[in-house]
Amino acid sequence: MASKKSAKYIFVTGGVTSSLGKGIIAASLAKLLQTRGFSVTIQKFDPYINIDPGTLNPYEHGECYVTDDGAETDLDLGHYERFLNVPTSQDNNVTTGRIYNNVITKERRGDYLGKTVQVIPHITDELKYNFFKLGETGKYDIVITEIGGCVGDIESLPFIEAVRQAKMELGPHDFVSIHLTLIPYLAAAKELKTKPTQHSVKQLQEAGIQTDILVCRTEKHLPIDLRKKLALFCNVQYSDVIEAMDAETIYDVPILMRKEKLAERVLTKLKLPKSEPDLEDWKDFLGRLKNPTEEVTIGLVGKYVELPDAYKSIAEAFMHAGAKNECAVEVKWISSEKITNDNAATILHDLDGVLVAPGFGERGIEGKIEAIRYVRENKIPFFGVCLGMQCAVTEFARNVLGYKKAASTEMDENTPHPVIDIMEEQKNITKMGGTMRLGAYPCTIKKGTKAFVAYGKQNISERHRHRYEYNNKYLKEMESAGLKASGINPDTKLVEIVELEGHPWFVGTQYHPELKSTVQNPHPLFVQFIKASLNYKKSKSE
Ligand code: GLN
Repeated sequence: MASKKSAKYIFVTGGVTSSLGKGIIAASLAKLLQTRGFSVTIQKFDPYINIDPGTLNPYEHGECYVTDDGAETDLDLGHYERFLNVPTSQDNNVTTGRIYNNVITKERRGDYLGKTVQVIPHITDELKYNFFKLGETGKYDIVITEIGGCVGDIESLPFIEAVRQAKMELGPHDFVSIHLTLIPYLAAAKELKTKPTQHSVKQLQEAGIQTDILVCRTEKHLPIDLRKKLALFCNVQYSDVIEAMDAETIYDVPILMRKEKLAERVLTKLKLPKSEPDLEDWKDFLGRLKNPTEEVTIGLVGKYVELPDAYKSIAEAFMHAGAKNECAVEVKWISSEKITNDNAATILHDLDGVLVAPGFGERGIEGKIEAIRYVRENKIPFFGVCLGMQCAVTEFARNVLGYKKAASTEMDENTPHPVIDIMEEQKNITKMGGTMRLGAYPCTIKKGTKAFVAYGKQNISERHRHRYEYNNKYLKEMESAGLKASGINPDTKLVEIVELEGHPWFVGTQYHPELKSTVQNPHPLFVQFIKASLNYKKSKSE
């Protein structure tokens, strides 16, 4: 096994406030390194005590991002994959909960041979073991570790201490520390203020870490004298003060960081060669994104619409698919709870396409079903994702097959027509964390279907996060009435894709296609959905 020395490590911490976009800075830096030929991975260390974000409500933590290996992870991993086009895994997201769980399991096994188990060294050793784990696979030249939360938070103290120890172990040319802070603009004083950053850097110094590079989020350009002041007070070189201006989209950030020479500064410190990055494909994507020739309006029907982070990957997949079609995608967020049989037409009639979102529980379910009835009857392009697909099956059973009380047993345990039912292997599960059907499973697509047109192949693999499934007892009846199963799991026969005959584009997937859409590989179903919405829009105006 390659030693941890074979990889170089970059640690990204944050200060002043949360939500400064550490994940985007980390992903942008990774992109600038990857496009120079380095093999890079990014991992996120979150100081909260949940073992993973899988049990967190979207209001707490936005979307839960699922990896191929079935890990329920932080939504920043979605950004890492979208930027780098390389899959992440459970090893890319570690929480305090997981660290303590590992240490306590070892303690119960007797691994510590009678020692008192303590934050230092046992928790910090476990943290460092996980910091270095991906680097030790020998697959990466550079490992970027994003530390969640802010410096100074009580819960992140052991993380910062472990970073300090990692620095000592790695030595100067294998370790770089980047600190991301905010330079607020005080409108009344008409001034950018450096004091919060000075304090944050000081706090990091007190914990034994002198940051190498300071990345400053700002809404106004940093003048030279202010950069000089930051360098002086924060004990970094002038050229290591990097401006991170608010950007129009997250995809502009690698270009902004290129201008600020963030990757060059990192490569200098790591004593790695500084070639030119090849950003042609990235710029091509940005060009398409920013210069659309057409526009569609898509309704996203969900229950967390006041919280766009809950559907992060879907929103990003729309951007990728829009750029591919050179079409701006305006997303109208529609609360499913507001939709009824009476008002569906008023709310939905002028949309060019409707996506019904994933979700759990009963809230807003009838609105989702009404929205689907409307788009099915009016031949508006429809895309149902996970719960959205399950609602499409339910709607079809109720309004086409005439089973008025059809439902998923998630919503109605006693329905006479359980068209969506709990999966056999889920029946005896009582624990909540990590127990759903999670991660990548194969699916075989039938030729001659819309799914086949999109993927252009029969064998695909997509990611899942669900407990309920299509009830195959209804398959024959559904298919003869026009709702076809166009994708099936070859091993379990679970229906993965349904699509409606005689409708311009009506597709539902049990899996989450949005999790695999990247800048380099926009998801084919999203691309086709946008295309169908564009065609529908054109047909309306003819
Ligand atoms: N609640 C549904 C299930 O568990 C759908 C899940 C989802 O949309 N991710 O099967």
